[in-house]
Amino acid sequence: MKKDDKIRVAFVGNPNCGKTTLFNALTGANLKVANWPGVTVERKEGQVSYKGQKMILVDLPGIYSLTSYSIEEKVSRRCVMEEEVDVIVNVVDASSLERNLYLTMQLLELGKPVILALNMMDVVRERGMEIDTHRLPEILGGIPVVPVSARKRTGLNVLLHAVKHHYEENQCEKVITYPKELEEKICLLETLLKKKYPGIPYLRWTAIKLLESDEETVNEYPLQAPDILDRSYEKEIINCKYNYIEEVVKEVLFYKHSKKEGKTDAVDKVLTHRVWGVPVFLGIMALVFFLTFTIGDLLKGFFEVGLDALLAGTTSLLENMHTADWLISLVVDGAIAGVGGILTFLPNIFILFLALGILEDSGYMSRVAYVMDGIMGKVGLSGKAFLPMVLGFGCTVPAVMATRTLEKEEDRKRTIFLTPFMSCSARLPIYVMFSSIFFPDYPAVVAFSMYALGLVIAILLALIIGKIKKGDSAGTLLMELPEYKMPNARTIAIYVWEKVKDYLSKAGTTIFIASIIIWFVLNFGIHGMVTDVSESFGAMLGHVLVPVLAPAGLGLWQVAVALIAGLSAKEVVVSSMSVLFGITNINSVAGMTGMSAALAKYGFGPVNAYAMMVFCLLYTPCAATVATIRKESNSWKFTAFMVLFQLILAYVCALVVYQVGSLL
Ligand code: GDP
Ligand code: MG
Repeated sequence: MKKDDKIRVAFVGNPNCGKTTLFNALTGANLKVANWPGVTVERKEGQVSYKGQKMILVDLPGIYSLTSYSIEEKVSRRCVMEEEVDVIVNVVDASSLERNLYLTMQLLELGKPVILALNMMDVVRERGMEIDTHRLPEILGGIPVVPVSARKRTGLNVLLHAVKHHYEENQCEKVITYPKELEEKICLLETLLKKKYPGIPYLRWTAIKLLESDEETVNEYPLQAPDILDRSYEKEIINCKYNYIEEVVKEVLFYKHSKKEGKTDAVDKVLTHRVWGVPVFLGIMALVFFLTFTIGDLLKGFFEVGLDALLAGTTSLLENMHTADWLISLVVDGAIAGVGGILTFLPNIFILFLALGILEDSGYMSRVAYVMDGIMGKVGLSGKAFLPMVLGFGCTVPAVMATRTLEKEEDRKRTIFLTPFMSCSARLPIYVMFSSIFFPDYPAVVAFSMYALGLVIAILLALIIGKIKKGDSAGTLLMELPEYKMPNARTIAIYVWEKVKDYLSKAGTTIFIASIIIWFVLNFGIHGMVTDVSESFGAMLGHVLVPVLAPAGLGLWQVAVALIAGLSAKEVVVSSMSVLFGITNINSVAGMTGMSAALAKYGFGPVNAYAMMVFCLLYTPCAATVATIRKESNSWKFTAFMVLFQLILAYVCALVVYQVGSLL
């Protein structure tokens, strides 16, 4: 049946369980090792030979479950289900067994040969934990369980031995027995499936997935059985697995007294200190934003010179070509001013992500969740929810997606609800612009106050939600912390490059289109092209909103237009302000002075600017985020509520800031 006599082995496991490290230890291949979920996205192969037996190893992206929501899950799921793969090595971080075993339970249901590699045994020992490696395989349907340490390179040969000798042993696929009602349904479905799809692989798995209304399975093996598949039983099935895991962990995991404290523990004494942990975190974040400003500003100069040259060059080129004035204006005042203005913020974005990348890769970010667990628990969230929130400082879209790591639906919705209050990097240009113009003496402090305000509001909201929706407590945090390590330059370079690429492609698409649209809206009115912007469509639209926005200090039609445009992406607030006020190099000294003067003409001062920043921090997130929230929450109602709520909240807060600020 096979082309050769090589055994094909797929490495599957949660993010950060050490798959890549183990894979490298076995194959000697030099793959990147990262400390953050989802870095290994593509499939990686390596060869190894054990006692004459050739094996092909495949390193799959880290996943928490075999559902097919994310790309990682899809890739991994397809790969392990392929006929090509002979045996699955399920790499498990033994120091956080409970979380890791969920995926194991799913893999077992496939019925394919599974070998459990209990990785990080060194950590287990160091922490004074003990795992009963005889009892564990018994409970897991007899699969081989091999304790290893990828980092210390122990147990590797035993693992290969297990692969060589067990790759043909199919698994008992019924490790968990579900409640009677479900088992009956599974049985009926199996019969139906066998009849309709003779020779179907993974019979029990498919039946269970049908009961979960798993999209991919429903499409691949449609069944007409409305009385069996009357609804999704996903929740029950998930719960059963967790209950089972709880039993397993109770039986095999013991705690002894810790033998010694490693370097990591010593550092953690400070960084995750009960009292100091939070101030240290805030201090580190403050430092990050300080650097973002100072170093970012240093680098910015180069971009400005480049942009000025581009603007001048394009203008003279187009003029020499006798291009129509309106086209020159479209290109120069619309496209280049909008997109180029955003590009000059690239150094700030770059530094921000560089700092976040270093914090992530060193292992500190995982600690943040731990440090915040106390606070999070007090406001009714799990510490795990903090990780998506930290991601939110980068971009809300992946942050919302990362809430998938939260098992409870209620927890997840709460987290999604709060994530947009973490200032994403798109909001940074807004803060940079307004704080540099209006608070030139301490722009970093003002910008940092936005990040802090977002956090405070998120915490307050969490408290309020907790009061309204009592009951469902968040539960304790079951996460084990990876060891600290020297950040890896390559990993960070890749991480930063990915973010910068995202930013660039956003500038080239969303912001480009938005800038062009804004230009049109400003240069055309009911009577065609206008010379006076106050007759443009933009002005008309803006004027409608001015009376509403005025009490919040935002009563300029240009501001109204910029805010509407900002719904496409928050940076667009900045790019459209530059197009609106005809400022071509917004992030340069001249540009800022110009903007400041233009705004001052309308009496727009520091208090207005602060209200504006508050509004931008809080109001409806960008279109991509809204779409993601809709997809992840699977509810239009929830999404609409969030959008409206944020809009109102932003308005109220800006109003308070402006009114109180004006009094002072
Ligand atoms: P992956 O996401 O599953 O590919 O995990 P990685 O291989 O990137 O490992 C994540 C982190 O765990 C890295 O910092 C590794 O150095 C560390 N790690 C991996 N295996 C072990 C181990 O056996 N012991 C210890 N102490 N750390 C490990
Ligand atoms: Mg990896």
